[in-house]
Amino acid sequence: MAEESFDLVVIGGGPGGYVAAIRAAQLGMRVACVEKDATLGGTCLNVGCIPSKALLDSSEKFHEVGRLARQGVVVDKVTLDLPAMMAWKDKAVFDNTRGIDFLFKKNKVERVRGLGRIAAAGRVVATAEDGSERTFATRTILIATGSEVMPLPGVAIDETRIVSSTGALSLGAVPKHLVVVGGGIIGLELGSVWRRLGAEVTVIEFLDRITPGIDLEVAKTLQRTLGKQGMKFRLGTKVTKAEAGADGITLSVEPSAGGTAETLSCDVVLVAIGRRPFTTGLGLDAVGIATDAKGRIPIDEHFQTPVPGIYAIGDVVRGPMLAHKAEDEGSVVAEIIAGQSGHIDYNAIPGVVYTWPEVATVGRNEEELKADGVAYKVGKFPFTANGRARCVGDTDGFVKILADARTEKVLGVHIIGPDAGTLIAECVLAMEYGGSAEDIARTCHAHPTLNEAVKEAALAVDGRALHI
Ligand code: FAD
Repeated sequence: MAEESFDLVVIGGGPGGYVAAIRAAQLGMRVACVEKDATLGGTCLNVGCIPSKALLDSSEKFHEVGRLARQGVVVDKVTLDLPAMMAWKDKAVFDNTRGIDFLFKKNKVERVRGLGRIAAAGRVVATAEDGSERTFATRTILIATGSEVMPLPGVAIDETRIVSSTGALSLGAVPKHLVVVGGGIIGLELGSVWRRLGAEVTVIEFLDRITPGIDLEVAKTLQRTLGKQGMKFRLGTKVTKAEAGADGITLSVEPSAGGTAETLSCDVVLVAIGRRPFTTGLGLDAVGIATDAKGRIPIDEHFQTPVPGIYAIGDVVRGPMLAHKAEDEGSVVAEIIAGQSGHIDYNAIPGVVYTWPEVATVGRNEEELKADGVAYKVGKFPFTANGRARCVGDTDGFVKILADARTEKVLGVHIIGPDAGTLIAECVLAMEYGGSAEDIARTCHAHPTLNEAVKEAALAVDGRALHI
């Protein structure tokens, strides 16, 4: 078949790839996007952000009903219809992925189904499931192939009883005892889902803390709060083997620092120890691109790999593995390829844990500031002193603003509390504009809102919080 010619061929239709394709098309480029899976949207829409947030919301509502009586809403009997809950989640995935097809059509992005391989700089081959090939000549190539589940030696994933996050999003029944290996974001979110639906949940974490990278005070508060919800934690512990038998799964565990091994029984194991870049079958060798020790594709500050005309973004490159980071990189790289300039402030990328209470962070945490010898001030405000949090009965947590000791420039914000993921947005904006705690404190916040806790924390940086 004759070669087809494009300005940009994107390999991978996840949040990084599809956003780059749309933005490049908006800028007048002829764009194709090669995606190996049946639906667009990548990990995020198919087996990540979207299905997990659908289940987090449904399970939170199920759990919440039990607490409504304190507000005078008495519900007689609550029952779980798990197939209906899963169907709701599947519909959210279907609607979102179909939405990307619509956006591709609207923006005239050519969607190509197949495994994309870089045959040479300026040439991509897409192999369909039936083995047929299409070859594209292209001015530029964008790699946005994302990431895959990190395997754990000794623990073979079967996606029914020993599952990755993908299997944990589709369990056919509520486990009696779910062991989550890994106390990171994905493990805690999915552990929360099944805990709320009635499972006994034990989180096993190699380190002596959960959610590495998140401000330690926030992480400890999160562990305490999840503990109150019945989640159990075994920190400083590693899983060395999982054996599936007729009666369930037997896990071999031992202290991370070495010591006496023991066994633990459960009926489902979720392996959530992280994700690694995915570049299988991409043909990096053919163009001489070597990945780093973590499997990531090296790029310069303009997202260009060592091969001119080949760019990479998203989970497959350095930086946090987050959908909004991949999306922002997608927009910016398209603008750079179009000859414009683009920039991302990696210090102002929020991170959210969608447990309840939620955790949301941006910028540097206290441990990082101390390690860097930065003089900083802390402004903290608890949700127990926020009127709206009291109205809705969600008073766990606090807002913590870290500001430069001299200028009060916001260096980091760490929130644990109701809707923290939404509350963080104004803090991200403040940081993006180089704002100070005073700027947030002087901004009028509507009453009664949870956001007032952010304003009060900003006032607290100078010791002048009003409601505590
Ligand atoms: P991906 O989304 O992984 O997309 C890559 C795409 O490339 C895939 O569709 C893949 O099939 C395709 N592909 C790979 N190789 C080829 C090839 N050779 N040819 C053709 N196609 C190829 N992030 C958040 O920000 N918020 C969240 O709430 C959140 N929740 C998550 C929950 C879970 C359970 C998981 C697993 C992840 C979550 N993430 C979340 C992370 C988020 O999903 C990723 O950061 C994001 O999807 C990365 O986008 P990407 O475009 O780089 O890669």
